[in-house]
Amino acid sequence: MNKKSDTSAYMNNDFLVDTHCHLDMSQFDADRPGVLERAQAAGVRHIITVGSGLQSSRAAMEIAHSHDFIYAAAGVHPHDAKDFDGGSLETLTALAKDIKTVAIGETGLDYHYMHSPKEVQIEVFKRHIELARETGLPLIVHSREAEKDTLRILNEYVHAEPGLKGVLHCFSGGMEMAEELVAMGFYISFAGPVTFKKSSALAGIAAAVPDERILIETDAPYLSPEPLRGNRNEPAYVRYTAEKIAQLRGITASDAARITSVNALRLFGIGEMPGEGVIAYPIREGLYLNITNRCTNNCSFCVRMKGDFVKGHMLRLRREPSARELEEAIGDPKKYSEIVFCGYGEPLMRLDVVKEVAKWVKEKGGRVRINTNGQGNLVNGRDILPELAGLVDSFSISLDAQDEETYRKLCAPLHKEAFGALLAFISGAVKCAPDVQVTVVETEGVDVEACRALAGRLGVKNLRVRKLDVVG
Ligand code: SF4
Repeated sequence: MNKKSDTSAYMNNDFLVDTHCHLDMSQFDADRPGVLERAQAAGVRHIITVGSGLQSSRAAMEIAHSHDFIYAAAGVHPHDAKDFDGGSLETLTALAKDIKTVAIGETGLDYHYMHSPKEVQIEVFKRHIELARETGLPLIVHSREAEKDTLRILNEYVHAEPGLKGVLHCFSGGMEMAEELVAMGFYISFAGPVTFKKSSALAGIAAAVPDERILIETDAPYLSPEPLRGNRNEPAYVRYTAEKIAQLRGITASDAARITSVNALRLFGIGEMPGEGVIAYPIREGLYLNITNRCTNNCSFCVRMKGDFVKGHMLRLRREPSARELEEAIGDPKKYSEIVFCGYGEPLMRLDVVKEVAKWVKEKGGRVRINTNGQGNLVNGRDILPELAGLVDSFSISLDAQDEETYRKLCAPLHKEAFGALLAFISGAVKCAPDVQVTVVETEGVDVEACRALAGRLGVKNLRVRKLDVVG
């Protein structure tokens, strides 16, 4: 078993959440306790069991009440919309007040089977949305062959009164639908089908959804992921979907578990969200150091302005860590492909700490990278590169713009000499470290080819184009 498919990858700080399954269904009657035990053994820390009708919602609630780690959602599936009446709404409203209810659903539109007339499905969907709005609970939406109506209705409500939140479960729509849902603030949840061999379009969407909007689920007992396709599904198998998501996004299974789990905790308000910023955090095979949240720029695309998390790691610091604390957090640097001085902020604002810890890392046989905005000489009032020579294996420097005017517009630097200082830093870095790359963010106003040419004139061949809102 390789590292990526090893269940123990989730067993320490990282865990999984199955955000959508149907534990009340008869397929689990014979072995429900075993199903739950296997889920916990596979690193599934929370499960949301989702009602698909009134009876099913009551049963889901009962199961949730008998297990701390299980929560419930109350709703009527669009298939049964034709039977929905005033009494149904009353029952759902009562269930929504239960302490174990964390969402309204599943609800939505299914034009594939059309078990209920279209107009009736739409009306019942709207009743669920209104209940979600009244209770402040997130909405769990099912949409099959009904993209247009689903988006139109959600858009109406989101724009009429902000605050509606939710997830499109077992996503099977197109890229445009995914983008529109993300723009509305909705989450997108992937189930077993993303692992199927013929799901290349879905795989492309799973690779592209922003970190802070992706969830995973089993939809058990249905839709078992590969390699168990065709068997009854169960919450433990959510790990296969996590592993596929990791492979598609070029991250580790542990990264995928952390990212999707933090999103689940945030959306459903369950479990314990990390309260304090971490000072060292793994991404892929590297270890990143969060040494400061300060920066001399205010870039329009900076993710610090939009949230506190990167790849599921909480990075908002209450105080800046000391060199000793960072060394303790690193442990053995050789365990990682590289130790990356980073933020949430500009690491060279703490030059002394960078130098001390980088020296320690090198002595222990590790590799050092510094991710910087290139204003280190400016903020420290001297040429700091000779002090870093021998301590740094690679620099990743944010060039961000092809000229000073664009840089000022996009990065709003505190210092007016920032762009000139950045260019000088890049030329100096080439002489100081064996590996230098510059980065630009794909955003309006940035001329990537002009940036590449500028980097070339400064002696840097390696330019990386970063996607907007994607970090790490
Ligand atoms: S330089 Fe980096 S950390 Fe600073 S504001 Fe810009 S994107 Fe954020």
